[in-house]
Amino acid sequence: MQGKRIFKESVCSGTFPLPKEVRDRLLYIDAILQAAYGTPDLGNVADPLEELIFLTITQRTKIKTAIQVFRNLKEQFSGRDGILQASDADLRRILSVGGRGNFRIRAVRELLNAVKDKTGALSLNNLRRMNETEAFEFLLSLPWVGEKIARCVMLYSLGFNTFPADVNAIRIFRRTGILTPVIGSLEGIEHRKAQSKIAPWVPAEITRTLHVNMVVHGHEVCRERNPRCERCEIRKFCAFWRNSEVKEADGARFTMVDLFSGAGGISLGFHDEGFRIALAVDNDSRVLQTYRLNHPWVEQNRILCKDMRSLASTRIRAISGEEKVDVLVAGVPCQGFSRVGYRTKPDLIKEKKYKPEKDQRNTLFKEVIRFARLLNPQCILVENVPDMESANVTHYGMDRRVIELLERRLGGMGYHTATVCLDATDFGIPQKRRRLFFVASKKALPDKMEERLTKLAQEMKYPETTPSLFDAIASLPALKAGEGVQIASFAHVQDKGVSDYREFVGNDAAIIFNHVARPHNNDDMGIIEALQPGENYVALVRRMPDILNGRSHKVYTTRNFQDKFYRLRWDVPCRTIVAHLAKDGNSFIHPEQNRALTVREAARIQSFPDDFIFTGSRTSQFIQVGNAVPPMLARVFARFFRTLLEATI
Ligand code: SF4
Repeated sequence: MQGKRIFKESVCSGTFPLPKEVRDRLLYIDAILQAAYGTPDLGNVADPLEELIFLTITQRTKIKTAIQVFRNLKEQFSGRDGILQASDADLRRILSVGGRGNFRIRAVRELLNAVKDKTGALSLNNLRRMNETEAFEFLLSLPWVGEKIARCVMLYSLGFNTFPADVNAIRIFRRTGILTPVIGSLEGIEHRKAQSKIAPWVPAEITRTLHVNMVVHGHEVCRERNPRCERCEIRKFCAFWRNSEVKEADGARFTMVDLFSGAGGISLGFHDEGFRIALAVDNDSRVLQTYRLNHPWVEQNRILCKDMRSLASTRIRAISGEEKVDVLVAGVPCQGFSRVGYRTKPDLIKEKKYKPEKDQRNTLFKEVIRFARLLNPQCILVENVPDMESANVTHYGMDRRVIELLERRLGGMGYHTATVCLDATDFGIPQKRRRLFFVASKKALPDKMEERLTKLAQEMKYPETTPSLFDAIASLPALKAGEGVQIASFAHVQDKGVSDYREFVGNDAAIIFNHVARPHNNDDMGIIEALQPGENYVALVRRMPDILNGRSHKVYTTRNFQDKFYRLRWDVPCRTIVAHLAKDGNSFIHPEQNRALTVREAARIQSFPDDFIFTGSRTSQFIQVGNAVPPMLARVFARFFRTLLEATI
């Protein structure tokens, strides 16, 4: 019989409250594994004694074989007495299937005898009258019952919330490091001690699903030898994989710094082109959660949540190291420059007492100049709305164009500069999205920047014809307003064919994230249902004047709310995905379904791969997607800079 050295910290799971961040991550992992494996039946049984016998058979045996052996045992012998009275030969015939016959015969007999001695019957129903500590102690007093088996019986047969950390779960916890902040590293910790350490920290509501799915995950993916990290759905949460990604990125030839990084569309494009991200800065901690999760190749201490202006020069130098920085990128906030905002709305300026000269967002671009001085990069990229080109800023009491100021300052530091206005549709992206890109380089820039960039996209084999909205999102599962979950199995997806575009941004995700449709109120639903593809609110009211009759949404006058509602068309690229989607998705109504686009649909239109997970509230997720530079477009710039840098060496 195995020796019993029990390190019992607490019988029940959920005993110790986890820090929110760790708890959220664990719940996320549980949800992903549920979506991946569907919490299959592992053969556990409701009767505690039968569960004990079954678990004895499962040891070092494949689950399927163990289930069959247990079934045969029950069919061949009449009751538990029958098993006790059976001959060795009869038991061996059944119990030796799959190996370990002698062990199983001995263990099953000793178990049944011990139960009979202690309870006076071949039953463990007495456990149902005990509290969890009593039941746990009793089970541990039986031969061949260790902590994991005892916890399994308690979980599956007695209904106690306890987590049986088997060898698979321990391995996954050890490699992911998910509980490291509360229990320390599990590296080198004895198996039984690890079980006791893990159990009390697992939230009670996920003990069953997490245990079952970790067993499957450990068998199929996170194997002891040669873990299949490349197909692991939880790898973004795994310290083992993330460390290997950081090491791999360390070997990159070129580095970049990402200012105003947001969720990291630019960083992703640069990473895909072989750049190492030396530093990423943003002042929104919620957005940076998404960045941290999806950029495992960036060391955590190189992702800073800071207002750029408060970042001291010495700190910047210390973080980016003494190493050279090749490219500095800044997706400077654009609200102050955009004509959609205050710039074109004098009424709004008056009403809100808005003073553009006091809006500090409008001068953040100066940080680009400061960082350029500090880091001396070979190349610089600033992204903004096209309106930035005509935007002015007061500088030393003089009214200057922002672009002019950048050109002068950077020009004085030896940079060649160029400004291009690009549309994402010219780069294989299914979205009308015009953005201004200011480029500076120590090396001379080509005369026809736009041509050079589109040629690069062709060389990168981007889709030759602009993909339509259908190409981007038609394969996602249909949803009604208010339906959907943050994490869903790919099995739910109705795949309507794989377009070139989907092939390009990655179409092999087994799980779909962030595909949740917002609810609409009854009045809005009336309008949404009536809208035809390509039709907006004004056109609808013109076509169906009666639509307004008797409805409270009469408040949407056609004068102020022309585009209040708009149904997208399948056959053309989508309109610009904007952060405003966070407030109101009515001008992004799905071409066929009566609801606004989901975050996942918006992300696909922005060329984010399906395994890019947006975290935080729905509002925050939409802002993250809407403010991002499409990774596919960022990648073209990364290729462009790489060619420049290679030519410099
Ligand atoms: S990434 Fe690799 S090591 Fe980490 S949990 Fe997945 S399979 Fe295991």
